[in-house]
Amino acid sequence: MAEQIVIFGGTFDPIHHGHLITARAVAEHFEFEKIIFMPAMLGPHKGDARHKSVPADDRIEMVRLADAGSEMFDVRDVELQRGGPSYTFDTLMSLRSLYGADAQLHWIIGADMLEDLPTWHRAGEVIEIARIITAARPPYSQRVPDVLAGLREHFSAEQVSCLSDDVVSTPLIDISSTQIRRRLGQAKTVKYLTPDAVIDYIRKRGLYETAG
Ligand code: ATP
Repeated sequence: MAEQIVIFGGTFDPIHHGHLITARAVAEHFEFEKIIFMPAMLGPHKGDARHKSVPADDRIEMVRLADAGSEMFDVRDVELQRGGPSYTFDTLMSLRSLYGADAQLHWIIGADMLEDLPTWHRAGEVIEIARIITAARPPYSQRVPDVLAGLREHFSAEQVSCLSDDVVSTPLIDISSTQIRRRLGQAKTVKYLTPDAVIDYIRKRGLYETAG
């Protein structure tokens, strides 16, 4: 069987239990052995213009701390090493040369990102090169059928059908990095939203103190 390379990209600013539970559920659903977390340099697909993301080194370290000891997860900094905006297309090209033409590439997104797919750099090629796995995320999952219908304006019927086949009903976890940053900025606890090791790191480095 072809090697399965499964990427979960994001800014992870910071990583949280929504990411971790989603990744585990996707792995279980498709029986993937490993999910590779790949922190992006900048989030070209989405972003909070008011928030300047914390340095890449801190974000990747928090992903490492969150994953610590997990056989199921790995962390790669392909996008951080390349620098500049992190285009999924470029990353997939790097992965192709790294793992060879036979490897099957998969890219996980939350349901909030599905609508944005047509705006991705070389989106049509991205969805040909990799299977896009759409995980559930409240409240966006409710709109997924409508979003898929709208995607027919941008992609072929066959492509939309592939996207639809790879929508997975993972647990609905209403946690976002924005919520964590906001709470930290307001000096509220973020316990249970992200692993304790990440919270300890945030405190030690004094991250997000002015994010409220
Ligand atoms: P922010 O609040 O800063 O926009 P975020 O919580 O959306 O951040 P990202 O690092 O931007 O986190 O997300 C990376 C990927 O994880 C995206 O595809 C996003 O849709 C997905 N994701 C994030 N949080 C969840 C969640 N709670 N459930 C499912 N998917 C999620």
